[in-house]
This record gives sequence, C-alpha cells and structure tokens, in this order.
Amino acid sequence: MSRVYNFAAGPAVLPEEVLKEAAGEMLDYNGTGMSVMEMSHRSKAFEEIITDAEKTLRDLMNIPDNYKVLFLQGGASQQFAMIPMNLMKNRVADHINTGQWAKKAIAEGKLFGKINVIASSEDKMFSYIPDLKDLKISDDADYVYICHNNTIYGTKYSQLPETGDKIIVADMSSDILSEPVDVTNYGLIFAGVQKNIGPAGVVVLIIREDLITEDVLPGTPTMLRYKVHADNKSLYNTPPAYGIYICGKVFKWVQNLGGLEAMKKINLEKASILYDYLDSSKLFRGTVVKKDRSLMNVPFVTGSDEMDANFIKEAKASGFESLKGHRTVGGMRASIYNAMPTIGVELLVEFMKKFEAENKI
Ligand SMILES: *Cc1c(COP(=O)(O)O)cnc(C)c1O
Repeated sequence: MSRVYNFAAGPAVLPEEVLKEAAGEMLDYNGTGMSVMEMSHRSKAFEEIITDAEKTLRDLMNIPDNYKVLFLQGGASQQFAMIPMNLMKNRVADHINTGQWAKKAIAEGKLFGKINVIASSEDKMFSYIPDLKDLKISDDADYVYICHNNTIYGTKYSQLPETGDKIIVADMSSDILSEPVDVTNYGLIFAGVQKNIGPAGVVVLIIREDLITEDVLPGTPTMLRYKVHADNKSLYNTPPAYGIYICGKVFKWVQNLGGLEAMKKINLEKASILYDYLDSSKLFRGTVVKKDRSLMNVPFVTGSDEMDANFIKEAKASGFESLKGHRTVGGMRASIYNAMPTIGVELLVEFMKKFEAENKI
C-alpha cells in the first residue's frame, strides 16, 4: 500500500490515524458485532456516537449553550436555500461577494428575496477580501452573509464586518476547525464536512437558538426547517450515520492535537512553508494579496499555462495528487487542510524547488 499526498480541495485528505481506527472497527464496532454503517440510527451505540461527536465539537469550538449544533445533509449548497427559507423574515439579505461559493449563495438567495451585494472583490478576480470599513448594512436586512474562506480563490477573512445588530451568517466549509473562532460573533455557521472534517454527506450547522423558529417562508418543506432538526436532535430522519461517526473521530483527533489553538499554530507554520517559498520563487507566484491569504487553500501560477500543466503532470507522477487549480481559474492550488501533514508540504516545496531549477526562465 502506498498513500499519496492529496492536495485536493474536497473531498480531501483525512487523518491517517482516523482511517486506521475506522478500518479496525469496520466489522465490529465496539462489541456490537456490526459496522456503524449497518446499525440503527436509533440504537444506543449510535446515540452515543452522535452525542459524543456533538460534545467534542462543542468543546473544541467553545460553543455556548444557547447555540444548537445540527448534523444535516444536502451539502453546503443546500444551505444556500435553507438559510433564506428559515431566516429571511423581511425577505432582504446583505451579502459580500468573494467568489464562486459566495456567488452561488447570492443566486439562491434571490429566489426568496432581495439580495444586496454590499461589497465585492470581483474586479480583481477575487484575489482579496473587500474593504470592510463603512459597509452600508441595510436597515431591513435579515442577516449579513459571508463566505469565511474562499476555497477556490484562496482568500480568507482575518476580521469580520461590523454589522451592528444584524447577525452574521458564515459559510466555513473550507476553514472550520482550522483556527479558533468566537462563535458568539455569528448567528449561524455552517460547513460541508468534506473539506476539513470528514466524508462528504454531512453538514455541520451551528445556530443561535433564538433564530430557530416556526416562522419560516411559506412552502418551506419539513426537511428544510431548522426547527424540525433541532427538535429531533438531528434524528428527524435517518442521518448520514457513518459520516457523523467519522466526523466524531476527527473532532477527537483535533482535540488530541491540543485543540484549535494548537491547530492554528500548526496551520500557520505549514502554510508559511509554502507561502515563503512562493514569495522567493522566480518561477511560481501566489495569486492572493498577502494580508488575505488562506491557511487552507493556496493558489499559485507560473504565468504559463503550458508550464502549469507540465508541473501538475510531473507532480502527480511524484505522488503529489490533485494540484490542479479549480476549472474556473486554472493554475495550481494546494489545499493544505488540517489533515495534511507538515511533511507533505515540505516535500511539495522540495519538489517545486527541483522543478524550478530544471525549468529556469
Ligand atoms: C465546497 C464548498 C461548498 C459546496 O459544498 P457542497 O457540500 O458540495 O454543496 C460551499 N461553500 C464552500 C466554501 C465550499 O468550499
């Protein structure tokens, strides 16, 4: 068996320890004589799994008691509709446009009400986070929506917009658990887990309790109501049980590493190995303004499409997988989520140096 260094943006690398542990429990979970995939979601064993997963996540993110944690399905994309359906009482929301996932949320929001785009970085290919000073927050907005880390363009918010009494709704799909956040700054946080937590099929949603009401937009289906899932502790219907089990193991893995402060330290060190090299290289360069660089997704280019293609091909042959940039932007992107070991980034940089030496311009 040989494993590659997987730099994919999502589904993405998972901690090897977690995969091994799950493999060990595949045929017989904890004396039940069956796999977690085979057991009732109403069983005692599964109840412990989901309760434990929630508890560990609450510990890790320091989630206050007046916030609910939900495990949902439908991917992060389904939240683009669920959020307006549940929170858009006035049918107005303010959004900041920082790239593809932000845009998709805007487009979906428009199905339900008026969306004001109060800031955008579209003028420069989303290579920065817009100025957050003097934003014109709409008086009648139900919430202000941001995409916290832009998976495709590699930017992230290092501070939050001032929104007064308006709640912030944040898509943290690609940076949840990468560093500490103050949950109380948000009304709602959501993340598709396939980037930085677990297998595709689970969405983690953290929502302030008072925002969960019966007062949803007319026609909102039962399955798309936060209250239904909150009242049923994420067990209204069959949840993505195996995925939740793996998520729980990843939460424990992060906890064992020392929690989110420790994770942040590791992530800062890991990302700087790559960014420092990009800043010194004559062949490669990063595409994002320095102050807004993501710790998780690192896009870079050589300036030549042919050279980029060559690099991606040679990298793959050497065991560095999925370095191709998103199909809409080209170039390269190294996603270096929590589970990417530091050695993976060190070896990638070594390989890039060798490639640069062989391809002098
Ligand atoms: C991947 C991603 C999405 C979409 O996730 P799905 O689970 O495929 O719907 C949304 N937002 C961000 C920031 C992402 O990285």
